Amino acid sequence: MSTLRNGRFASRAAALRTRGTRGRGHPCQAGFSARFSALALVVMAMGVAPGYAAPPQACFAPDSLPVRAGDPSPVKGNHAFDRSDAAHTLAPFAPVPTHLRGAIRRVEVPKGQKLIALTFDLCEQPGEIAGYDGAIIDYLRAEGIKATLFVGGKWMKSHDERARQLIADPLFEIANHGWAHRNLRLIAGDALRQEIEGPQRAYEMARSKLAAAQCLPPGAGSSSRPAPARMGLFRFPYGACNQAALDAVNDAGLLAIQWDLSTGDPSPSQGAQAIAETIVRQARPGSIVIAHANGRGFHTAAALPLAIPKLRAAGYRFVTVGELLAAGRPVVEPRCYDSRPGDTDRYDHPLGLAVGKRPGGAPARSAAAAETTEILPWAAAAAPAGRAQPQQPPPRRRVTDPQRPAASPQAAAQPQPEPVKQPASSGWFKWPWQ
Ligand SMILES: [Zn+2]
Repeated sequence: MSTLRNGRFASRAAALRTRGTRGRGHPCQAGFSARFSALALVVMAMGVAPGYAAPPQACFAPDSLPVRAGDPSPVKGNHAFDRSDAAHTLAPFAPVPTHLRGAIRRVEVPKGQKLIALTFDLCEQPGEIAGYDGAIIDYLRAEGIKATLFVGGKWMKSHDERARQLIADPLFEIANHGWAHRNLRLIAGDALRQEIEGPQRAYEMARSKLAAAQCLPPGAGSSSRPAPARMGLFRFPYGACNQAALDAVNDAGLLAIQWDLSTGDPSPSQGAQAIAETIVRQARPGSIVIAHANGRGFHTAAALPLAIPKLRAAGYRFVTVGELLAAGRPVVEPRCYDSRPGDTDRYDHPLGLAVGKRPGGAPARSAAAAETTEILPWAAAAAPAGRAQPQQPPPRRRVTDPQRPAASPQAAAQPQPEPVKQPASSGWFKWPWQ
């Protein structure tokens, strides 16, 4: 199945590249709009959802887009990217307003709008080069399915070209997943700041490269999508947060995005059929689905072709998290969790500290909260006075495998093969920095 799928995408991609570059000099020198229009026509002619604008294929080598052998396999023992970049002035932003502060798990959408947001985490921990499940991305591209990718800053640096391909693709919304997948409940000070700001820098620098090469999609940076000037969404590594971490993320102008439907794909023992059944069974309008595309989303690439057609048949349309937020009212929780409050506390183990460790383990909650304004002085001046909801200190427990990405199954289903259209804004949600 994987081979067939990849083969189909490969041929489509080849067609796109051939049509997109024929008769031109250096592809990045030519007007991108003309290429884009031609590509869009080709995509539509191929039956791909009309809402999908092909990525600027001409800006990348012909064989660089589809998955390659070895892409999905993580490599251990490489510390080259453990530290984030220090220099780069971040794009302007404003702290998240009070009513959106907290962990957003799903979105209440107007009745009849069967919108769902697929999200894929590309986590990368210190001392490793994580994988790239290109088969997932290839499938999404071939089917014209929008998705939000929560990408580690370290992953962006260690997968420089892949990161730029994804940023340049208007099908995808790129979001912050920390620098090196550290548990934000267990760090403070510079370590916490690195985890939040590092990916912002990596994204903005990669985007600058694309801009310099005229490889950003049309409309980039004009609003929230595609390829906005800065990332506006954050997902906590391990799904773990506390009030101090939520404050730090929100004060940095990032909405904290959790999920209400976990595929459980970090578990190798779960097969594609089980994942697909979970997704189809648990999906509901406004759901945010979490899966992984870093070589540790076991069987997800094979599960998508099983689940997506069923979701479409049930009338679902696939949108990015940003689009989902704009279509309804976000459900904001005072704490992060996977299935139920407290179930991510098992990741609070000192081994999860990696870089920026505090020898005594997690900082005291009060100390961590006090440090927030010290860490983010600009936020102290601009942060809203109130908070959406009070945070209850979760109980802390130990776990035997703290490095494993948070996950546990859930999902649902229904579909409809309709082109993905930008949902009308509910008027309730506005991007905080606009
Ligand atoms: Zn992760």
